[in-house]
Amino acid sequence: MKILVVEDSRSNRVMLTHRVERFGATALSTERGEDAVAMFAEHHPDLVLLDVVLPDLDGFSVARRIRAMEKPGEWTPIIFLSSLGDDSDVEQGIAAGGDDYLQKPISEVVLGAKIRAMQRLVLMRASLLAVTRKLDAANQELVRISSSDGLTGVANRRYFDEAISVEWRRARRHSNSLAMMMCDVDHFKLYNDTYGHQAGDDCLRQVANAIRQHTERPSDIVARYGGEEFAVVLPETTVGGALMVAEKIRHAVRALNIPHAASPNHIVTLSIGIASAAPGFDNPPDDLIQAADKALYRAKHEGRDRVCRADAA
Ligand code: GH3
Ligand code: MG
Ligand code: MG
Ligand code: MG
Repeated sequence: MKILVVEDSRSNRVMLTHRVERFGATALSTERGEDAVAMFAEHHPDLVLLDVVLPDLDGFSVARRIRAMEKPGEWTPIIFLSSLGDDSDVEQGIAAGGDDYLQKPISEVVLGAKIRAMQRLVLMRASLLAVTRKLDAANQELVRISSSDGLTGVANRRYFDEAISVEWRRARRHSNSLAMMMCDVDHFKLYNDTYGHQAGDDCLRQVANAIRQHTERPSDIVARYGGEEFAVVLPETTVGGALMVAEKIRHAVRALNIPHAASPNHIVTLSIGIASAAPGFDNPPDDLIQAADKALYRAKHEGRDRVCRADAA
C-alpha cells in the first residue's frame, strides 16, 4: 500500500511517515499542495493523508483537484488532518471529496485503525470492480450470442431486422442510398438429399464465410435470413457498387468448388438478387427487401448461378 502524506509541519510529517511505514505501507510525503497534486498524478497512491492548512493550496482545493483527476470508476480514499477541530471543517472536507477526518494531535492507534478501515474499503471496491468487469464481459457475450447465427456465425434474422431499420433511417438522414442483396444457395434441397444434412450444414458455413470475406466495409451487414438464404445490407452503396460485390460473392462461392453431383453445374452455386433505394418517409425497408427477393426469384427463374438487379423503381 502506498500512502501520500501531505503535511507542512516538518515534525508532524516525519512522525506520520514513520507511523505509516510501521504499518507496512510505503510513504510519499510533501509539504505543499501543488506538489501533492503532482505526486498523486505520478504515483497513484492508495490513500492520501491531507493536512487542511498548507502554505500554498489549502487541503480542500487539493482534494477537489485529486477528485477531478480521477477517471470514472477510480477512487482513492482521502483522510483530512487538521487541528482546527471545527464541525464546518469536517463538512467542508467531506464536501471537497474527503472520506474521513482526523483531528491533531493524531493518535497512533486511531491512525492505524483508519488506515485499516480504508484499506478494507479499497479491497472491497476492487473486488466489486472485478465482479462488474466479469458481468460486463458476460453481457457482451450474451449480446453477441443473441444476435448471431449459431451455425454460420454471421448475424441472425433478429439482428438483421433491427439493423436494416437502423441503416434505413441513417440513409434517410444523410440522403444516401442503401443497397441490399438476397443470396440463395442453388438446389440446396438436392444437396442435402445427396450428401446428408451435416454436409449441408458444412456447406452453409463455407458459403457464409465466402460472403463475409467479400463484403469488406465494416458497415456492411451479413445475416442468415433463413435456411439457405443470406441477406447482405450495403450502406452508402449504389446498385452499381452492389452489382460488383454480388459478382465477387458469386465467383467466390463457385471458387469453393464444393461438389454437387445433383446440380446441373456440378458444384454448389449461388443466386443473388440485388436492390437499392433512396429511403424516403413513405417507403419502408420492407419494400427494399421485397425488391431484392423478386430479383432473386428472377435469378432463379433465368437459370440460377447469376446476379439479377431489381427493376429501377
Ligand atoms: P433453389 O435452387 O430454387 O433455391 O432450390 P433449393 O433446393 O435450394 O430450395 P428449397 O427452398 O426447395 O430448399 C431449401 C433447402 O434448404 C431445404 C432445407 O432442407 C435446406 N435447409 C434449410 N436450412 C438448412 C440448414 O440449416 N441445414 C441444412 N443442411 N439444410 C438446410
Ligand atoms: Mg498545516
Ligand atoms: Mg435454394
Ligand atoms: Mg431458399
